[in-house]
Amino acid sequence: MENKENTAAAAAPATAEASPSIISPTSSPSVPSSPPCPPVILSPCAACKILRRRCVEKCVLAPYFPPTEPLKFTIAHRVFGASNIIKLLQELPEDQRADAVNSMVYEANARLRDPVYGCAGRDLSASETNK
Ligand SMILES: [Zn+2]
Repeated sequence: MENKENTAAAAAPATAEASPSIISPTSSPSVPSSPPCPPVILSPCAACKILRRRCVEKCVLAPYFPPTEPLKFTIAHRVFGASNIIKLLQELPEDQRADAVNSMVYEANARLRDPVYGCAGRDLSASETNK
């Protein structure tokens, strides 16, 4: 008694689906090509939410502190302070802001874990114990 599992190779009907003549391109867009702008964030960003301020259209924090990751700003805010974060971001070119935020969040995380040495703690304590 053989199972009929090997019959999958049934000849598929050769459906010649040659695409018919394309009727017409979709109605030409009359709208001028939209400028490259960051995705619209509907709710206030995490930073503005925590700071309880209005998230304006050009909020420098919004692209780096999305409302989905409130912890990122909470931590960085606790260690660096919101005004310092904003100031730093405003002084940096846009293409370096993401990195700055990442390192700030990283350092803030480390600093909460080790208030004395922060992210330098590992190196320092390692060299200390190697005496
Ligand atoms: Zn904002």
